[in-house]
Amino acid sequence: SAPRIAVFGSVNMDLVAYVDVAPASGETVQGREFRQIPGGKGANQAVAAARAGAEVAFLGAVGDDAFGVQLRTTLVDHGIEVSGLRTVAGTSGVAHIVVEGDGANSIIVVPGANGTVTALREGDIQLLDGVRALLLQLETPMSGVVAAARAGRSLGATTVLTPAPARPLPPELLECVDVILPNQHEAAAITGQDDPERALAALLETVPEAVVTLGADGVLYGRRGADPVRVPAVRVEPVDTTGAGDTFCGAFAVARAEGRDPETALRFAAKAAALSVRRHGASTSMPTRAEIDAF
Ligand code: ATP
Repeated sequence: SAPRIAVFGSVNMDLVAYVDVAPASGETVQGREFRQIPGGKGANQAVAAARAGAEVAFLGAVGDDAFGVQLRTTLVDHGIEVSGLRTVAGTSGVAHIVVEGDGANSIIVVPGANGTVTALREGDIQLLDGVRALLLQLETPMSGVVAAARAGRSLGATTVLTPAPARPLPPELLECVDVILPNQHEAAAITGQDDPERALAALLETVPEAVVTLGADGVLYGRRGADPVRVPAVRVEPVDTTGAGDTFCGAFAVARAEGRDPETALRFAAKAAALSVRRHGASTSMPTRAEIDAF
């Protein structure tokens, strides 16, 4: 049967305007196209894990606005358990994104309801009880992430932290993390080491397992006391790499929760992420279990 996974984190509505050149301060420009896309690293990882074959519970918050209703519906449509998704007074998290003709983008994130998730709430412990893996990111306040990591750890879940956006990681968080999963930029920001191998070694001084993702170059995986392993990416013609990292993380967690060894889980995740970069969008590009297994 499908393993149970919980995700504690952010959910945003991405409001994306496509323009030739972004407006300067005080300027108005005409855009070419607009898209409204459910996102947020937490919600994206939850969708990735659900599509990759897990039973997923999401813990977080939306506002009491129209976006909140749409975001909740999107998670429900993916079969995600949302009794841990609170509706709070105020606006939902929003990412205001301007994409220029050459693909360069600028983003304003307004945390809204995500900023209220500062602690575990009533019922959260029951939702975390019995989960095999708990996925955490840093788009919600640190105090809540620490509380969730602590609860997950004490209930026997494998805790997986995506340290994005990168920021200093307090020892009380690190002591509850089993696997840290940064991309190479986050790994460098956290450790001060630009070289991924050195960054990996530094991460392993704080947590037992680390995965540094290297885009088309795959990942570097390390476990304390063992030699690092490089797992290559699956070669594909990239269309849109948005969400590749979250797809990778969600699929990796599912394979681990099914009891696969780390390298098998990394290869499964690499297939899922490669499938996602062949399609547009973030959550809309995430492959199903059948697609991953057939790839
Ligand atoms: P994003 O922010 O775009 O979601 P990220 O920066 O968090 O991604 P990356 O290191 O870019 O994470 O990519 C994560 C994984 O996705 C890689 O380890 C790899 O397996 C897969 N991947 C990314 N880009 C490509 C690509 N061009 N071709 C094949 N696989 C890719």
